[in-house]
Amino acid sequence: MIPVFLETILNTASVSGCEETNQKLALEYLRDIAEEQKCDAVGNAYSLIHRDATCSVMLSAHMDEIGFRIVQIMDDGMLKVQEAGGVYPALYAGAPMQIIHETEDGIVCVPACCTFSDELLKNSDVKDRDLVLDIGASSKEEAETIVSIGDPVCADTHARELLNGRITSRALDDKAGVYVILEAARRAVEKGASCGIIAHTSVGEETSGRGAWFAGTRMKPSCCIAVDVTWANDCPGGDPAKNGDVRLGKGPVLCMSGMVNKKMNALLKKTAAECGIPVQYETAGGRTYTDGDILTMTGSGIPMALVSIPLRYMHSSVEAADLKDIEQCIELIAEFLLRIDETFRYEPLEV
Ligand SMILES: [Zn+2]
Repeated sequence: MIPVFLETILNTASVSGCEETNQKLALEYLRDIAEEQKCDAVGNAYSLIHRDATCSVMLSAHMDEIGFRIVQIMDDGMLKVQEAGGVYPALYAGAPMQIIHETEDGIVCVPACCTFSDELLKNSDVKDRDLVLDIGASSKEEAETIVSIGDPVCADTHARELLNGRITSRALDDKAGVYVILEAARRAVEKGASCGIIAHTSVGEETSGRGAWFAGTRMKPSCCIAVDVTWANDCPGGDPAKNGDVRLGKGPVLCMSGMVNKKMNALLKKTAAECGIPVQYETAGGRTYTDGDILTMTGSGIPMALVSIPLRYMHSSVEAADLKDIEQCIELIAEFLLRIDETFRYEPLEV
């Protein structure tokens, strides 16, 4: 079974830059245990637990998903789109789509078809501007009564269960991570963790990283754990030489990278061993291409560890993950929070 909260945020569109609906749900989810909740000018949401503790750990995952925005409404009522995040436009030819339009009475999801032609199907390098959406309007004027320039657009798909506890959805990147950090905060409190916890759901990771920058500079935690998805390579075309031998169902992924704090990684590894949680490793020669990169380089620097959920078919409408990995990421982070305090030393050298 897909946990209800996870299913709700997966099915509720939050294209990069338009995350508000889901951000409200994230705050509601931790309202009962948060001492304080905050948002900021870019739309980040924060739940603070044990806010006066000397050691504060920011758990960070991004609420935005990839998609498009309407860039042009044509005379015949058809719509052109511009990408928002790292989409593969070719994947949308012939797909059901939705446009998220805000009205005075609330948000309306307008159904649309992404059209295709023989010419488009032969195009090996489809760009966002090659896609045309049909909402059934017969003129520009009619379309303009229903949608507006700038409206976010994404595939109109719902989360589904596959065999063996695996799930598929268009936005597991990174709503699976959001679910992990919110649940890990809750579980850590239940287990009696005393460190400060800032559960941070970020905006704009897929487009700019602005959410992470606002969060790191303002909240100044002692350290942070970024939770995102990473490429599982046990699928057609998968190549372990890309980022490591990462598989679905084999546990949380720790990142071996100069961006990641070695001491925190070691504590995560030790915690996993003590709790019988399997871990996998990925490598990043330089940046990790997650919010973790930005968090660790804000202000005077924030020690960072990256915990990733293995994911097949990243940045598509059929991303696939294993619920067991998600559960083990929650448990690993909750147990880490029990083991870290103000005596923890982040420096890799003895002086
Ligand atoms: Zn992501």
